[in-house]
Amino acid sequence: MPGPSVVWFRDDLRLADNPALRAALDRDEPVIGLYVLDEESSGIRPLGEAARWWLHHSLTSLGERLRERGGALVLRRGPADRVVRETVSDAAAGAVFWNRRYGGPEREADAGLKSALRADSVEVSSFAASLLFEPWTVRTGAGTPFSVFTPFWRACLALPAPRAPLAEPREIAGPGRTPASDSLGDWALLPTRPDWAGGLRETWEPGEPAARRRLQEFLRDDLAQYDRARDEPGAGATSLLSPRLRWGELSPHTVWHETVEAGAGGRFLSELGWREFAWHVLFHHPDLARRNLRPEFDAFPWPRLQPTHLDAWQRGRTGVALVDAGMKQLWHTGYMHNRVRMVAASFLVKNLLIDWRRGEEWFWDTLVDADAANNPFNWQWVAGSGADAAPYFRIFNPQLQARKFDPDGHYVREWAPEHLGEDSPEPIVDLGETRKAALDAYEHVKRAA
Ligand code: FAD
Repeated sequence: MPGPSVVWFRDDLRLADNPALRAALDRDEPVIGLYVLDEESSGIRPLGEAARWWLHHSLTSLGERLRERGGALVLRRGPADRVVRETVSDAAAGAVFWNRRYGGPEREADAGLKSALRADSVEVSSFAASLLFEPWTVRTGAGTPFSVFTPFWRACLALPAPRAPLAEPREIAGPGRTPASDSLGDWALLPTRPDWAGGLRETWEPGEPAARRRLQEFLRDDLAQYDRARDEPGAGATSLLSPRLRWGELSPHTVWHETVEAGAGGRFLSELGWREFAWHVLFHHPDLARRNLRPEFDAFPWPRLQPTHLDAWQRGRTGVALVDAGMKQLWHTGYMHNRVRMVAASFLVKNLLIDWRRGEEWFWDTLVDADAANNPFNWQWVAGSGADAAPYFRIFNPQLQARKFDPDGHYVREWAPEHLGEDSPEPIVDLGETRKAALDAYEHVKRAA
């Protein structure tokens, strides 16, 4: 059917290396970009607050970039199956293109919409864009999904290398008449009363151009020290690309190929491998954020929640320097260094004995890179209940972790300087006693195994 092509943008807010956009351009009809804020479709997890802030700015940037090239971005809100079909009908579009999503409810929604559009004689195609390896293409010798990272990544590396990134289009033929669009401000994605986003604004510039600049800067200035210093939260040695990948401002293919061209990066590439693995696990276990992957952990005797402890953890008032520094970095910037994420998560689960799901929800709400696979996957990794997880009984000592990874105190000085003075706060729990209580509780899991 002739008529404009709709490109439905989701977690791929970019023009470069965007196969759905490329397919639309190749069809030689006017192109309409569409973003749907879907807070109603069943099972799709509503965005956290920090994510909403990022989305607002990234959509602003995407809209400008599409318009500069002659295209358009239509914003609509509602259940995606209805809204996409309405937009197709308003635009008299002949085709819809999108890049795939891998969560369970998202796949179901996309499959349903695909059938409905085809029944309306609209051309529909979906593309691989957000992962280097489609989850169903990576299988063990027995044909099953992987549950351990090292053989998973080895199997990925034995597959054909990720395709080269597609060039960014210079011109986009827009429609004569653009279908009606919401105004972004009406979506109220930004916090107003109170406006707590000052730290996010100081830290980040969402959007594809800033993402590309950060990638170049990382490859030029930081990649060489990545292997040595990636675990030191005060070293600034990591890429800070996680929100860029989360929102698809950069494709993993672009990051992969530019890193390989920069001539190093085995360790860095394997971190991208962890991202692939988390999505592989989510694809095969859609309820990753709710259910222990190892069912014996269902027997874990979580004590009754002490709200004051959860609150102290969320606000960075646990009296444990590295944990408090991390939680304050998170609150201020929407980001926390990976080593500190592990320590702060371990403290919640194993010293405060609070269910990992409470921590996962807090991160979901406060991280700008909150990701439906990486977040629950890593929480379950720390809690011991996940795929290829850290053994439960290896409990981080947050004070030793600080001495080892922040030996000069740079990180704690920046985020929790109150810990460096004479009367620094005392831990709200005894680390030794709580460690022992955690190990006792773990006995129930062992018995259930
Ligand atoms: P770099 O070290 O530069 O790594 C490059 C990229 O590799 C990252 O951008 C990320 O996409 C990927 N990556 C690195 N480490 C991991 C990992 N452990 N698991 C999966 N992918 C990884 N990452 C998220 O993107 N979103 C989340 O919601 C998230 N929640 C987490 C929760 C906990 C409890 C923990 C322990 C980790 C979590 N991570 C999450 C993983 C990791 O902490 C971040 O990806 C990393 O800190 C991002 O910083 P960076 O981009 O500088 O990382």
